[in-house]
Amino acid sequence: MKFCSSCGGKITMLIPEGDNRERHVCDSCNTIHYQNPRIIAGTLPVYEDKVLLCRRAIEPRYGFWTLPAGFMENGETTQEAAERETWEEAEAKIDIAGLYTLYDLPHINQVYMFYRGTVIDGKFGPGQESLETQLFAESEIPWGELAFPTIGRTLKRYFDDRKSGDFEVHIEEIKTSWKKPKE
Ligand SMILES: [Zn+2]
Repeated sequence: MKFCSSCGGKITMLIPEGDNRERHVCDSCNTIHYQNPRIIAGTLPVYEDKVLLCRRAIEPRYGFWTLPAGFMENGETTQEAAERETWEEAEAKIDIAGLYTLYDLPHINQVYMFYRGTVIDGKFGPGQESLETQLFAESEIPWGELAFPTIGRTLKRYFDDRKSGDFEVHIEEIKTSWKKPKE
């Protein structure tokens, strides 16, 4: 941020009185422009024994596979955001079973939240941000072509938990980029 979004004035980084870290502060109107992490909400859509993935039609990671997810909008709950993104990217309605994974990514100021659920009537298709959508069995997951670390980890958790049938919520911090798991 170089200029104030309220008055167009020049921005200086400084610690405001009573605060404990540097902020973007306007030289002209003194507005403090706080910057906070962004929430990305999505779903792990399951149908029969398969998981629904979308191949991205947008950057970043064009052409790579992802779970439907995106930035939360003002005025919606995290579950509503997850359901909306699933409709926009995969044209699927989901019967939500509950929150499944939560990832803190402090190095890029993001929080990911995935809800687990079933694809209603098994209906889906590529939305505007997807090249294609497809159901994958565990043995068919394109592990080397997944878009983000959060996607691979959520899928790995799911296939592990499915063996026991116990889908507790997993909360993790991610500090590194996604690497293909060893076969
Ligand atoms: Zn200003």
